[in-house]
Amino acid sequence: MDLERISQTLLKWVNLNVKSSNTNGDKPSVSYIVNNIISFSTARDIMIDMEGVDVLRLSYIIYFISEGDDFKTAQNKSNNLYMFDFISVEDIKYTEEECEECYGDGTIECSWCDGDGEEDCTECDNTTTSDEGDEEECDECNGKESVECSNCSGDGNVECSNCDGEGRVESEEEMVSIDENKWVFNSPILAKKLQNEIENNYRTDSSIYAILDDFKNQVYYLGYTNSEETLNDLENNLDITDITTNDVILRGIRKLSSSEPNISLSNFGDSYTLKSY
Ligand SMILES: [Zn+2]
Ligand SMILES: [Zn+2]
Ligand SMILES: [Zn+2]
Repeated sequence: MDLERISQTLLKWVNLNVKSSNTNGDKPSVSYIVNNIISFSTARDIMIDMEGVDVLRLSYIIYFISEGDDFKTAQNKSNNLYMFDFISVEDIKYTEEECEECYGDGTIECSWCDGDGEEDCTECDNTTTSDEGDEEECDECNGKESVECSNCSGDGNVECSNCDGEGRVESEEEMVSIDENKWVFNSPILAKKLQNEIENNYRTDSSIYAILDDFKNQVYYLGYTNSEETLNDLENNLDITDITTNDVILRGIRKLSSSEPNISLSNFGDSYTLKSY
């Protein structure tokens, strides 16, 4: 089956579902179309062998045909998709690393007794001799000539003062946990608005959602990828200073390339999803 016939057939399927699920005549959004066709087992069998980016394009073709375009126009538009991404800063913290002094044990060898747990008995320095001329046992050590080490109470180890016995210390480096959110859309007007936002207000919060919401039918959320890096690296990479938790940093817009290896159709149990990884 060629792409045009696949598109028409799937649009019929989608429209059937739209009719049964909403009564106010709304046209299906791209998200609705994606989720609808990948949950349709016959269609999914065709799409499972397609690249993720092509499943996305097919969904846009169906969307534009549904909006009134002919197949050729819809296909052209689907070849001009934009990818927009922004970073949301989830968490900044000092990470812990193993204590260098105790190698993570939390204790170190007692330096008074070198780990023996015993120290020389100070009372035995001169063996006392009784009146009868016999050597008498030292009261302090009962003749052993050593006593329990008073520094480690006989344990041989003492708490590591570098980590207070925790075995771990905070590292010098601050680590940032970030979500990289990816969105796809077609509208050149939206592209311009986002570009404008990036240039004037690249550290934003809710305004970006308001802009995307105006185009919600044709905006497809590809999900997010979470990663961690040092605050230093992130600030250098983005050329920004003073990044804090909950910052939203707009990255950029680019044309979606014809081979986006990170987009794929995957299943989680019974349900399928088209996401970016
Ligand atoms: Zn330690
Ligand atoms: Zn003694
Ligand atoms: Zn000791």
